[in-house]
Amino acid sequence: MNSEPRHRGHTPNLTDTLRTEADARAFLEAKRWPNGLVCAFEDCGGAGIMRYEVKASVRKNGRAVPARSLYKCKACGRQFSVTKGTIFEDSKIPLRTWLIVAQRMCVSKKSVSARQIEREFGVTHEAAWFMCHRIRWAMTDKSPMLLTGTIEADETYIGGKPRGHREHRIKSRTMSEAITESWAKKTPVFGIRERGGRVRAKVIPKVTQQAVERTVFHGVDRANARLMTDDHAVYAHISAMLPHEVIRHKSEYVRGDVHTQGIESFWAVLKRGLVGTYHHVDAGYLPQYVAEYEFRHNTRDITDAERFSALLGQVSGRLDWYVGKQAKGETPS
Ligand SMILES: [Zn+2]
Repeated sequence: MNSEPRHRGHTPNLTDTLRTEADARAFLEAKRWPNGLVCAFEDCGGAGIMRYEVKASVRKNGRAVPARSLYKCKACGRQFSVTKGTIFEDSKIPLRTWLIVAQRMCVSKKSVSARQIEREFGVTHEAAWFMCHRIRWAMTDKSPMLLTGTIEADETYIGGKPRGHREHRIKSRTMSEAITESWAKKTPVFGIRERGGRVRAKVIPKVTQQAVERTVFHGVDRANARLMTDDHAVYAHISAMLPHEVIRHKSEYVRGDVHTQGIESFWAVLKRGLVGTYHHVDAGYLPQYVAEYEFRHNTRDITDAERFSALLGQVSGRLDWYVGKQAKGETPS
């Protein structure tokens, strides 16, 4: 039932082990190419790679470029750096900072707020925010596997609470108007969870039969699954797709093995995290936050170090990391 990452094993403290940018680059190189250097251009992939050092310089636009290691591919003749093709590419933020922040987001239960990063690393709020979102993109499961066995499905609503008691007192609004308005601001999230296992959660515009059935259709191995839900009307016809059992929350929470407490416990972790870490989550960015919690949940049985390695295995893919709204602040240079 536990939805929180278990903290097993030794957690490498990167603040101590990575003292310089050179340390950070060596660390990423070892993680990225454990079996020897490979050309970072996807259309090449050559294995004959030369390494060379470049001295510090100042570009024409006045930007200082620190000394660094570069690689050159013998097959295609192109140069690249250790961050080529990753979410860390073309960033003015030191790689060391990126790695420490990414590791924090992997090992903490509640994620890390941009404010914390801003304070601790002395970067602008925009830069901190931007880093968090790129790292969340890397955490997103791009090719999720189908869920099997006993599957619990449920929906929840995030956000939309009135902002402080003054708003309650606006006399021109009746209580029911206030409630309607508050619900209109809430964003629905639909989730499925294997009993005791993996979660897939998705922000949906509205909880409809179609949205729910589509997610189950694409997310579940229907030949090898039985579904458990509450008696919400949107599940009324889902038994046409796969075996379906219903728990009526008005009268019961558990009947034999029929319940939805696993997915509910995932919602609890998500909501507690969002309330505790972020003052306000814009609905447009909610999918990335949900992906972050899903990533930590689905890797909760491995060690913190393994989870961080799993993330670094997903940092490639430079072209489509602009997800949701256009990220503000840092522009690729
Ligand atoms: Zn090459």
